[in-house]
Amino acid sequence: MITLENITKTYDGSATVHALKGINLTIEDGEIFGIIGKSGAGKSTLVRCINMLERPTSGRVIIDGQDMTALSDSQLRAERKNIGMIFQHFNLLSSRTVFDNIAFPLELVNTPKEVIRKKVDDLLELVGLTDRQHNYPSQLSGGQKQRVGIARALASDPKILLCDEATSALDPQTTKSILELLQDINKRLHITIVIITHEMAVIKEICNRVAVIEGGVIKEEGRVVDVFTNPQSQTMKDFVKSVINMQLPAGIAKMGITDQPAPDRNVLVRLRFKGSATNDPLVAAIVQKFNTYVSILYGNIDYIQDEPFGYLIIVIMGDMETQAKALAYIKGLPIESEVLGYVPRNH
Ligand code: ADP
Repeated sequence: MITLENITKTYDGSATVHALKGINLTIEDGEIFGIIGKSGAGKSTLVRCINMLERPTSGRVIIDGQDMTALSDSQLRAERKNIGMIFQHFNLLSSRTVFDNIAFPLELVNTPKEVIRKKVDDLLELVGLTDRQHNYPSQLSGGQKQRVGIARALASDPKILLCDEATSALDPQTTKSILELLQDINKRLHITIVIITHEMAVIKEICNRVAVIEGGVIKEEGRVVDVFTNPQSQTMKDFVKSVINMQLPAGIAKMGITDQPAPDRNVLVRLRFKGSATNDPLVAAIVQKFNTYVSILYGNIDYIQDEPFGYLIIVIMGDMETQAKALAYIKGLPIESEVLGYVPRNH
């Protein structure tokens, strides 16, 4: 488990920069935890504080009960073997082959040659680069370079893998394959993965939980599926909007929506579904129970990993009393609903 206790980081230069202003976070073993934020938010500083490449100005970093901030430099070097890291620009050694790049951390600690051979062979197979082991980095694609970076990070059998914008230099298809590899590594080797990114699509694809950082402060954190379906902070709402369109489609907005019920109007409702509620025959139930009609104007179902979520915009017809009863019925269900307004009956 990684615990960050009230971490601050101040850079003193010509101007003082308060990069982190009291970060508290707990990351459980085996999680894939995402930290998202815009450029300059403090993400890199935060992730570098986890492995103490950057010493926090104040606060404690506790990994599996060990206070990292209390260690000497040599103790820290030993502890860092438990923490692998991959980078946006891969940071490979250009004069070494794929095999020798992966072997490098093992050579540094004088691992016997035959142990290195076996270990690197296994890692090459894990990342799918066995046939590329004699190539140099310049002969590889971006995705292949990041696979080498991942294999090198895993060479010392870490318990934690830190990923600093690891897919930001890659095209969407390659990003997907690298994220699949990270997910596979998380499942197979039970490695805790911390992902730093500015892309919500990365969070949506593989993270279990997410924290959003802005101006050196965590604005919100939670399970990815909860945050996506019900973001609380403006920062998270903006990020969610970048991958899920929750806006009212233009055609509906033009219908002349008012905010009061009226005898010549029908109620316009947005329903948000999460998990198994997506399968419930809600529309049919309203039609049957209240002997009225429902028209579906817009629907959108998406998946966060294997969990479905989405929303539906419906118009409930009938007289005002019927509409009110149907609304009360919906409010009593375990799904989120929102009255968007009232539209003229001829729609
Ligand atoms: P992000 O990774 O979210 O883009 P960073 O952690 O790199 O954000 O930066 C957070 C803030 O700290 C920024 O204002 C940045 O300019 C500043 N900063 C980062 N590293 C240093 C440094 N070594 N010296 C001075 N300021 C820094």
